[in-house]
Amino acid sequence: MTPPSGDAGSSNTLDNLLTESRTFPPSAEFAAEANAKPALYEQAAADREAFWAEQAEQLHWHTPFTKVLDWTDAPFAKWFLGGRINVAYNCVDRHVASGHGEQVAIHWEGEPGDTRTITYANLKDEVSKAANALASLGLVAGDRVAIYMPMVPEAIFAMLACARLGLPHSVVFAGFSAEALRSRIEDASARLVITTDGQYRRGKPAALKPAVDEAVASNPSVEHVLVVRRTESEVDWTDGRDLWWHDLVEAQSTEHTAEAFDAEHPLYILYTSGTTGKPKGILHTSGGYLTQAAYTHRNVFDLKPETDVYWCTADIGWVTGHSYIVYGPLANRATQVVYEGTPNTPHEGRHWEIVQKYGVSIYYTAPTLIRTFMKWGADIPAKYDLSSLRVLGSVGEPINPEAWMWYREHVGANRTPIVDTWWQTETGAIMISPLPGVTSTKPGSAMGPLPGIGAKVVDEAGNEVGKGGGGYLVLDQPWPSMLRGIWGDEARFRETYWSRFESQGFYFAGDGAKYDTDGAIWLLGRVDDVMNVSGHRISTTEVESALVSHPTVAEAAVVGAADPTTGQGIVAFVILRGDAVDGGDAAVQALRNHVAKEIGPIAKPRQIMVVPELPKTRSGKIMRRLLRDVAENRQVGDVTTLADSTVMNLISAGLQKGS
Ligand code: ATP
Ligand code: MG
Repeated sequence: MTPPSGDAGSSNTLDNLLTESRTFPPSAEFAAEANAKPALYEQAAADREAFWAEQAEQLHWHTPFTKVLDWTDAPFAKWFLGGRINVAYNCVDRHVASGHGEQVAIHWEGEPGDTRTITYANLKDEVSKAANALASLGLVAGDRVAIYMPMVPEAIFAMLACARLGLPHSVVFAGFSAEALRSRIEDASARLVITTDGQYRRGKPAALKPAVDEAVASNPSVEHVLVVRRTESEVDWTDGRDLWWHDLVEAQSTEHTAEAFDAEHPLYILYTSGTTGKPKGILHTSGGYLTQAAYTHRNVFDLKPETDVYWCTADIGWVTGHSYIVYGPLANRATQVVYEGTPNTPHEGRHWEIVQKYGVSIYYTAPTLIRTFMKWGADIPAKYDLSSLRVLGSVGEPINPEAWMWYREHVGANRTPIVDTWWQTETGAIMISPLPGVTSTKPGSAMGPLPGIGAKVVDEAGNEVGKGGGGYLVLDQPWPSMLRGIWGDEARFRETYWSRFESQGFYFAGDGAKYDTDGAIWLLGRVDDVMNVSGHRISTTEVESALVSHPTVAEAAVVGAADPTTGQGIVAFVILRGDAVDGGDAAVQALRNHVAKEIGPIAKPRQIMVVPELPKTRSGKIMRRLLRDVAENRQVGDVTTLADSTVMNLISAGLQKGS
């Protein structure tokens, strides 16, 4: 990554949108019952390592750790040294052992409307059978397993079975192509691939196994392909290699003794979204990762295992699915909803119908979906009883203040706290977020680092900027769930995250951020995306938020395109709201003027293009690099991690027609 020249955004950053005056303090009732108390910050500040030790002690250790942190081999951290732990035991068995076997772990809702209710006792049986099955294939601790599955319960059983046996898993989005799967299998030399025959997507079954057949053909490391039957699609079969889950796993015993592994035993490899370039195989280990996933899940979402029904809408192919569907919630004995399908199948109220049906109390989703809900209209959530909701979360991108307010009003009834959680595949767990019941929130701000976390905004030289200043977001202290490297590429690990502020020893996150006058942190998007217009550094997030604050705009993506006079010119791609059909010249002019009024004339987009869709990763992030290619009339770059690869054709076709 090339850092931009000059300051990432301090003195001359335009910051009108960030002078947000609305604040939402926690209610006294919520604060009284909240898991997190203000004292957590003081406790962590007084002795960070003792604080983390206390969090780790909430887990079950087969052998207690003797030292909290070894940072002498930085940037390779070791946490909870001497400790031995089994991650799956912590997520499953210990809850059964403590008498909660009958508690529902997963309310599973299939896209076609079929459902399954899985208690912790059921989960223990399923994971044990799967572990026995994997062991029967000769897999031993350290072997890698690729998981390429839709959101079916077996995907979670498979991940936990791997964790139980010390087999690092590599989950690959079931929406990715055979080529994306092939390269990930190869990178990790997986011995086994677990998949399904097909998956439901937008009401129709689509084949999945053919992509595995193609990916495995040129990967000699793969000995077996284990196939869950989901859609009853016809599949090609390679005898000796392919095995049905219902043959192999169902025949196994439900007894399996979990063995303990070193706290630093690898738990999984997960490739980043690829929003900015070639995905990186991020390595996470066991004890520290589970400690922070559980701690953040308990405090940021205020989870009460006895009464809450939690729902995170992510896919397990994304880190959010790893930390906040599988490991964090299950370690905390949550009862959760897992939904297989798309939010508008068979209708645009599906999520609210599910919230109503299960009495969901905690709902965690991404800004892209909130903006989609806005586009579909507030009358849709209004048709359902959402009164069970008490905490709302957001992750994945900066949430525009407008979307935050809409979420609060139309989903949260102007009552529920919203937690905007900043983190990355690399951080493994939430790093910057409000704590419900403690923090007064501002729409669009992730507020501050959690207790135990060191994060700050620094200038080019690594000095912390003052209130009102902007620059680079860095993490200045090691944290338990930090990545332990990029699989097989130490040089890229050091270069990507640790070279930018090498002398200070800071982890460079790649994101720009600023402090407002109260010292709250506002994420400004990728440092690579910051635009330079006539010497002014303008963040894409600010211009996008200005556009989204206009009543006709549902979504906006902004890029800086090379411009002979201004250095870069601002080019915006907008999707109009359902009821705003007119995308003509007058409408575009009105939007340009609106941005000028909201931010300043310098931020007025050079060009605004009305498009039907935006290119997004499977985790819902806008891929600005592809739009930059369009804006600069270049061949569009690598699209392998796009959720829908036809989107770029749609955009290009629309633009040719319009020009
Ligand atoms: P790649 O690193 O391969 O380009 P990626 O960064 O999109 O992909 P992830 O690890 O899934 O992959 O995403 C982390 C990034 O998402 C963060 O660096 C940040 O840019 C963005 N992000 C996540 N949560 C938030 C948030 N609450 N506010 C602002 N940005 C966020
Ligand atoms: Mg990234």
